[in-house]
Amino acid sequence: MDVILSVKIGKNLGGNAPRLLSLEPIFFNLYNVIIHLYKVKEMRRGHMETKHVELEATDLHKQHLINWRRHLHANPELSFQEEQTSQFVYDTLASFGSLELSRPTKTSVMAKLKGAKPGKVIAFRADMDALPIQEETDLPFASTVEGVMHACGHDAHTAILLTAAEILSAKQAEINGEIRFLFQHAEELLPGGAKEMVEAGVTDGVDMVYGLHVASQLPSGKVGVIYGPATSNSDQFHVTVKGKGGHSSQPDKTVDPIVIGAQIISNMQSVVSRMTSPNEELVVSITTLHAGEAVNVIPNEVQIGASMRSLKQDVRNNAIQAIERMVKGITEANGASYDFKVIYGYDSVYNEEAATAVAERAIQRRLGEDAVLRGSAIMGGEDFSAFTNTVAGCFVFVGAKEADNPTPAPHHHPHFRIDEAGMEDGVNIFLGIAEELVF
Ligand SMILES: [Zn+2]
Ligand SMILES: [Zn+2]
Repeated sequence: MDVILSVKIGKNLGGNAPRLLSLEPIFFNLYNVIIHLYKVKEMRRGHMETKHVELEATDLHKQHLINWRRHLHANPELSFQEEQTSQFVYDTLASFGSLELSRPTKTSVMAKLKGAKPGKVIAFRADMDALPIQEETDLPFASTVEGVMHACGHDAHTAILLTAAEILSAKQAEINGEIRFLFQHAEELLPGGAKEMVEAGVTDGVDMVYGLHVASQLPSGKVGVIYGPATSNSDQFHVTVKGKGGHSSQPDKTVDPIVIGAQIISNMQSVVSRMTSPNEELVVSITTLHAGEAVNVIPNEVQIGASMRSLKQDVRNNAIQAIERMVKGITEANGASYDFKVIYGYDSVYNEEAATAVAERAIQRRLGEDAVLRGSAIMGGEDFSAFTNTVAGCFVFVGAKEADNPTPAPHHHPHFRIDEAGMEDGVNIFLGIAEELVF
């Protein structure tokens, strides 16, 4: 800056222009210099205030990351049954020293890393549970448990957060504030472990909470960042149409639930197309339908099951009310009755603006300017919402697509695999966020 100042002023003082006229460019340039200095100061405040500490994953850390993930992958446990997994996490965290460990629930673990000086309290979360799926990959570290598989990448999340905890716990003296590492049970099964952890108080006093999910179909090196709603409200409902069965040759002596059920199914789509603004996201899919045993018998009942995805609470509530109204009207008009049961799933994860901006900066700084892929909400469910309902937070999607695999299996598939390089990016994201907020 000093150089710019002297060069510009020197240049304008030179030449043979009359003295009076030459003052104008001097003031103009001084103005520019002041603006430039101001911008640099602002830039430092916004983007460069972070004290750069040596938060790098060494080869040993990278080896731990791979080893831990493969150990967890080979030994998966179902939701709410993560006993060996949580013990492994607990023992591994205990070996780092400097962490205060506790078990908020039977199969979850919290580690607190209290810095030397006061400051923000931030929380990082990883989920640890596997799925009831028989693994069909040929990985050398494939599941050793019959019918159970880490088919969503929660093994990777756990290993990523363990590695971040290992690196950060060595920097305790330089931390201003506190980092909480939340190893959560049961993301895959309602009511979800996140809600239980929040009820156990893990977010008390927390300023910002962060989580991530590996994505088997997003290229490695890229990170999906979404502002606002990031996942959907994921609900289901079950309708039973109660008619009156009888012989197929005498429909007038029956109340045919199949004909009534068909009307309900075809009318239900108008809740999306006619009763919800085209600017709002809503998906209603009928996914189960059960009725009848014999072709010459009109049955007593029809059972209809459906899944519903939405982003906003009012859209969710209005749709559920409209669907029940429709079921009630159609069944009553036909002389039948009904049962209507809603099973509320996970709320939409909400990525708060300031927390997301921090994550985006951290990703760009640690993984490169073009690592961020801005996207819109994913219509899948994720119980991280229990955290973002309580504390400002952000949840990002970390690319982990195998480069040599043109058709990667989706999550929850027996052939699900990830590129382990994406896990290193995950560690870097947590380290970057910690640098932004507590160093
Ligand atoms: Zn999953
Ligand atoms: Zn998952």
